[in-house]
Amino acid sequence: MKFGTKVIHNGYEIDKCTGALSIPIYQASTYHQQDIDNPPEFDYSRSGNPTRKALEETIAFLECGDKGFAFSSGMAAISSVLSIFSTGDHIVICEDVYGGTYRVSNNIFNRYGIEISFVNAGDLSEIENSIKSSTKAIFLETPSNPLMKITDLKGAIKIAKNKGLLVIVDNTFMSPYLQRPLELGADIVIHSATKFIGGHSDVVGGLVVVKGKELARKVYSVQNGFGAILGPQDSWLLLRGLKTLKVRMDYQQNNALILAKWLLEQPKVSKVFYPGLENHPGREIHFSQAQGPGAVLSFKTTGNETARSFMNNIRLAAVAVSLGGVETIVSYPVKMSHASIPRQERERLGISDNLIRVSVGLEEIEDLIADFEQALK
Ligand SMILES: *Cc1c(COP(=O)(O)O)cnc(C)c1O
Repeated sequence: MKFGTKVIHNGYEIDKCTGALSIPIYQASTYHQQDIDNPPEFDYSRSGNPTRKALEETIAFLECGDKGFAFSSGMAAISSVLSIFSTGDHIVICEDVYGGTYRVSNNIFNRYGIEISFVNAGDLSEIENSIKSSTKAIFLETPSNPLMKITDLKGAIKIAKNKGLLVIVDNTFMSPYLQRPLELGADIVIHSATKFIGGHSDVVGGLVVVKGKELARKVYSVQNGFGAILGPQDSWLLLRGLKTLKVRMDYQQNNALILAKWLLEQPKVSKVFYPGLENHPGREIHFSQAQGPGAVLSFKTTGNETARSFMNNIRLAAVAVSLGGVETIVSYPVKMSHASIPRQERERLGISDNLIRVSVGLEEIEDLIADFEQALK
């Protein structure tokens, strides 16, 4: 089956008990045990819940992995994956990783003796040179946030496999529709399901998919032990969101391409970052590992004042953090997602005061362009 069919026919499209075309929300914490010598599949909802299981199997199916896990947020998913490592282990992470991943690495996991190096993963030799005998994994995110830098997944995976390292990919920006890292040889995929998978800015959640029994056992042990599980209501919302993932993404990335090209022509815009544009650095690598450019772009205005007045004058688009919803969201990274990174480091990464990030939604493109035009003026 092709992806657009798989999101609808995920194995849970008809409820086995009632024939309902929607999986029930099993709002239960515990389960009756008929025979104490033979415990049933579900005994307590931290360990397993039927609605969460439907979501976990669906995301594993869509990412072409062996086992899926649902967590209470994207950060809970990332932190739970990092918790499979031990004191003394070294992990290599791309330097423009999501801010929360940077913080949890530097403020929490370092206190448990997990050593983390941040490298420019756009340069494969930097990845290779940062590997040492204690290195256990490489953690990547492509395209990166907010400058849409591309990492060569196949190249990085090859380096990792030669050294016996795990490859973990945060696939939030692409979703399983556009990019499936496990098919390229990665071992673990993570999503902030809060973004494109939920798709409606109404739920916070995280998903993990792994390859192989051994990793499944390790992640399950953290999920059940640490307990940062997703509740049944939110699992159901993500199952519903997934059904329209393909049509939303198709429409949103079509909008994004038109908007990116329009922005390129504006005299007050100095630069546009979007893998769908001809001259985007790494575009060829991106399209060798992903099926589309996605619906997030960023741009720089000619002056800092223009960026500030754009943010204050935009009307139709929401001004907010987060992305991937049905509505267009503009954000101002230096004051929002990247505010906690010291200015000097931010500037080295290219996250300047004239940078604006856009998550393009499902509005009609003419209305969006009219809004952007008045806000730029
Ligand atoms: C939002 C986001 C996260 C964190 O997810 P939450 O659901 O907010 O905890 C992680 N990675 C990326 C790329 C994100 O955009």
